[in-house]
Amino acid sequence: MPKVQETILEIDLKALKHNFEYLKSKLKNGTQFLAVVKAFAYGNDAEEIATYLQNLNIDYFAVAYANEGAALRKAGVTKPILVLHTLAVNFDVILENCLEPSLYNAKILSEFIDFAENENQKAYPIHIKFNTGLNRLGFSESDSGYIVEKIKTTQSIKVKSLFSHLAASEDLNEKVFTLNQIHSFKSIANNFSKAIGYQPILHMSNTSGVLNYPEAHLDMVRCGIGLYGFGNSKKESANLKPIASLKTVISQIHHIKKGASVGYNRAFKNKDTLIKTATLPLGHADGISRIYGNNKGFVTINGKKAPIIGNVCMDMIMVNITHIDCKEGDEVTVFDGKTTTAEVLAEGAGTISYELITGISQRVKRVVLK
Ligand SMILES: *Cc1c(COP(=O)(O)O)cnc(C)c1O
Repeated sequence: MPKVQETILEIDLKALKHNFEYLKSKLKNGTQFLAVVKAFAYGNDAEEIATYLQNLNIDYFAVAYANEGAALRKAGVTKPILVLHTLAVNFDVILENCLEPSLYNAKILSEFIDFAENENQKAYPIHIKFNTGLNRLGFSESDSGYIVEKIKTTQSIKVKSLFSHLAASEDLNEKVFTLNQIHSFKSIANNFSKAIGYQPILHMSNTSGVLNYPEAHLDMVRCGIGLYGFGNSKKESANLKPIASLKTVISQIHHIKKGASVGYNRAFKNKDTLIKTATLPLGHADGISRIYGNNKGFVTINGKKAPIIGNVCMDMIMVNITHIDCKEGDEVTVFDGKTTTAEVLAEGAGTISYELITGISQRVKRVVLK
């Protein structure tokens, strides 16, 4: 491996393959697999990840917003791409890039139909999203009649899938609620398919749904976090491999005298005799948010933990290395796939792996290990 000389996010495609195969092993033969690659594939590198998964013959991709899908098309992704959060202002981008919109309320449904008719589309693939308890996006069950009537008025669109999203698939204390969502979606989907006279693809499982609710796998599953190596608990994560390692280097070492302070607002004051600190070239603009400051987060240098002291700056953090034998230029691990995973680091600061990894900013260089 080349020497680390700046802050990099190393992405291990072998680990990605492992996670994909592990999650797939939980499915019945024939269940389709959709990779959720929104938010730069959870901060990893959507183009690299999607083209790699496409070569592993994945069935589908999903992004949150249309522009994310357009970027994948530019990178050579030809598999179908579902846009989870369709906004009317993006209809042009959707059509130009053959993206498939999720339609979730009467307004966006009728606006999209008008648009598709104007553009002389025939059977343009769309997806209908139902809200079964998350109360975020989606039609309610009682809208079904209206949607069916509306769809029957046009040849311009075709319902490629019906889907819903689980609110608490990781929380087994909410099992009754989740089973109720599953039951409710199955009944909505069944009636809807009968009413339109053909059978769309049905899907409602995210990663935790795949691991905890086989009865919710249906025709297709939608995995994000699991592909990147995390579940929503230690148990769920046990067989997954984090694909990304955030590494950096020591820019400068300081010896801090008793009574001196470190960083903005003098947030750290040295009460000890003499301590040693290292300044590292990454900060909140790189995705290490201020919540990791003041001992909530740490990095690893030569196998030893170095806590972040004082406030996180925009472009730098300072860590306590009093007890570590190291020098300027040495490699530093912020998180990796082994001891300090993003899950562990996030937990220490009261957040979740999703937030830490999606927050690693585009300023950090991605290095893909093939
Ligand atoms: C983000 C998202 C997913 C992926 O969830 P994970 O928990 O990361 O597997 C699936 N479906 C929808 C609708 C989403 O927004």
